[in-house]
Amino acid sequence: MVLRDILHKCLNSRILKLSGTLFKQLVDTIDAVKSKKMVRNLAVFDFDHTVINDNSDTAVLKLINKEVPEEVKQLHKSDGWTAFMQGVFNTLHENNIKEESINNLIRQLPAVEGMPELIKQMNDDLNYDVIIISDSNSHFIDLWLDQNNLKKYISRVFSNPACFENGLLKIRMYHLQNCCKLSTKNLCKGKIMEDFITEQNSLGVVYKRVVYCGDGINDFCPILRLSKNDLACVRHKYKCVDVVLRSKEGRYIDEDGETRIVTSDVYIWKNGYDILEYVKQLQRKESKLLE
Ligand SMILES: [Mg+2]
Repeated sequence: MVLRDILHKCLNSRILKLSGTLFKQLVDTIDAVKSKKMVRNLAVFDFDHTVINDNSDTAVLKLINKEVPEEVKQLHKSDGWTAFMQGVFNTLHENNIKEESINNLIRQLPAVEGMPELIKQMNDDLNYDVIIISDSNSHFIDLWLDQNNLKKYISRVFSNPACFENGLLKIRMYHLQNCCKLSTKNLCKGKIMEDFITEQNSLGVVYKRVVYCGDGINDFCPILRLSKNDLACVRHKYKCVDVVLRSKEGRYIDEDGETRIVTSDVYIWKNGYDILEYVKQLQRKESKLLE
């Protein structure tokens, strides 16, 4: 209570040149401490083309030397992504591609440069909980994280559930949603992120900053839900950049004619080391302002 009052007085008398955002963050932090909540940061990662430098779903097609049948391709349009992927897995099964061949291919997919280091340091040194939200599937992500010794740094993975049944990989939708038109029916990353933050809050964890890292169009919804103090990291030359920059400048109008504006800070990255350096810089700036 006393520290909160001192901060209010300092701000009013302009002794401290704190920005409004930083001040709010401080007050929130003090309130969280007062209510005995744990104050941390949250890092949210997409998986394909963000953590790994490939698309795990389409990568498995390399195991068959032919095109996916036309009726399987049509499933994407008619029934969505998970129906299409089930069609792909059925095709692999029909072509006698074994479980171990699929698993080995996924295990060997390359990481984006610096991403393993970023995930480790955010978790170990920078006070971040790390989660993954991906439209790939739980089986592939679990295999890859295990192979790359990253599981212990990831608090939760949200993806379409999948597992092998008699040699056939079966996939289901993560959820069925129709409240977000920016997202596919099987996965609204923004809702998942917000629900996770609310759940954590009820368990006594408050996030003072959220850093979201992604590359694709389905990363736009969660980025729109970030606040002023958060950070959206979008991959250079990938689809998300254009949409996010247009939205940041107030030039993105959705299909209902509504202008959608990104309010968080935006950083364009080429590898994980870029993001790591930028996040460290942010923390150094905040520390200096408080000196
Ligand atoms: Mg992606």
